[in-house]
Amino acid sequence: MLDTATNRPELPPEIARRRTFAIISHPDAGKTTLTEKFLLYGGAIQMAGQVRAKGESRRTRSDFMQMEKDRGISVSASAMSFDYNDFRFNLVDTPGHSDFSEDTYRTLTAVDAAVMVIDGAKGVESQTQKLFEVCRMRDLPILTFCNKMDRESRDIFEIIDEIQENLAIDVTPASWPIGVGRDFIGCYDILRDRLELMDRADRNKIAESIEIKGLDDPNLAKHVPEHLLEQLLEELEMARELLPPLDHQALLDGTLTPIWFGSAINSFGVKELMDGIAKYGPEPQIQTAQPRKISPEETKVSGFVFKVQANMDPKHRDRVAFVRMASGHFKRGMKLTHVRTKKPMAISNPVLFLASDRELADEAWAGDIIGIPNHGQLRIGDTLTEGEALRVSGIPSFAPELLQGVRAGDPLKSKHLEKALMQFAEEGAAKVFKPSIGSGFIVGVVGQLQFEVLASRIEMEYGLPVRFEQSQFTSARWVAGDKTALDKFINVNKQHIAYDHDGDVVYLTRLQWDIDRVERDYPDLKLTATKEMM
Ligand code: GDP
Repeated sequence: MLDTATNRPELPPEIARRRTFAIISHPDAGKTTLTEKFLLYGGAIQMAGQVRAKGESRRTRSDFMQMEKDRGISVSASAMSFDYNDFRFNLVDTPGHSDFSEDTYRTLTAVDAAVMVIDGAKGVESQTQKLFEVCRMRDLPILTFCNKMDRESRDIFEIIDEIQENLAIDVTPASWPIGVGRDFIGCYDILRDRLELMDRADRNKIAESIEIKGLDDPNLAKHVPEHLLEQLLEELEMARELLPPLDHQALLDGTLTPIWFGSAINSFGVKELMDGIAKYGPEPQIQTAQPRKISPEETKVSGFVFKVQANMDPKHRDRVAFVRMASGHFKRGMKLTHVRTKKPMAISNPVLFLASDRELADEAWAGDIIGIPNHGQLRIGDTLTEGEALRVSGIPSFAPELLQGVRAGDPLKSKHLEKALMQFAEEGAAKVFKPSIGSGFIVGVVGQLQFEVLASRIEMEYGLPVRFEQSQFTSARWVAGDKTALDKFINVNKQHIAYDHDGDVVYLTRLQWDIDRVERDYPDLKLTATKEMM
């Protein structure tokens, strides 16, 4: 039996031992470093530094990746699986830049929990706040890691206060730091009554752990200098009075977050955090779907696509659909039904993203992330089942906030351009609208940077120089309603009508006033800024 507080007896042990989560943080807080240490402890890599090194060799392959590197952002997300003690961790990487909120949102639909990393000197920063709010929309359980405690940090109570205030979540200390900055020697593990001492000399060494029998154990004084011990006892006393204790249910509901203090670069506090993820989880959760929910323990296999990545290997124009398994025990070669098209698909080359490499996945359980290479059949939001017409819901597509026209540098290449654009639309990297009148395309994104990314990807992956130019439109809304009303609307508003890559009707305008007018004049139609991807 696994040592978890939430053992759900109905879950097969293989599923109960899975932990699928993402890390959210502001750039520079230490996400990459922490990821490396996770992998190091997971035995997935031999030495810290490989994640970065690997990332860089991959990045040099292209201008696009170069741009990613120059700007210090991670445009593409990926998944990593590794074992830790009796557990299988699936870490889903979130794109770090605020321009990519939609992608991030979808990534977070594939996880059961998030680890929030904050910099002890900086506290809650803007990007953390935004990502946190996305987690909040899904009531995701959050575990917090306060990093860089080896440096001068803010006052601990102040940090905790800031999280409670800014993020409106209760905070309970799982550990408590001893000393600050250069005097920082380690942490008191509140949950397990242990002293964890940091070794500054060896950054890859797992901290020395000393069992303590309560706070009046004389052993404490042997390891902690007197003035630090006094301060520790005082602060712990205060923490006990001011802060709530760990309540597992509140953690699972996303209303309370435990906080661990540490230093990722010194491998300190990381193990305690991993133990926390293992213990408090949660294990794979029930998935919202239509017409019914999917429980992970169901024997029939199901999963959904939350991300599509094209051209991962420039030599093969393949795409990989990232699938979160929602239920059952998948085995390689299985035939699953692609619910949207009702077609069977033999999943013969699924890949698991082990930290060191991609590897053929012989099997996968609910909670796992697998990659399915395909030629474009699989789109974001698609559900795969063993036949039942289930559709996982809650994977939205947001109306773009910025629109631009796009043209191929060479007018003869416009068919090529269309192909490239459609691919990016299916990948979810941009919205592509084909106006009902005239030629050309309008591309919609959430952040300006995405235009640059698209331009360099189209050039690199399709050898097509393109120009983005100002569009006469600034807003897009999907239009739905019964056919007669819709046809009438389209006829009268032709110059505002476009079609997205699914062929759905979109109304383009530059005035909110227009949108209000349509809503007033066409009560039978619905204008929406989001569309469920399915
Ligand atoms: P990311 O942008 O969130 O992925 O952050 P990185 O992991 O790349 O870390 C940003 C910088 O902070 C790098 O220079 C790291 O070496 C440094 N860093 C990460 N963890 C620690 C830590 O525990 N202590 C100190 N002093 N620096 C750290």
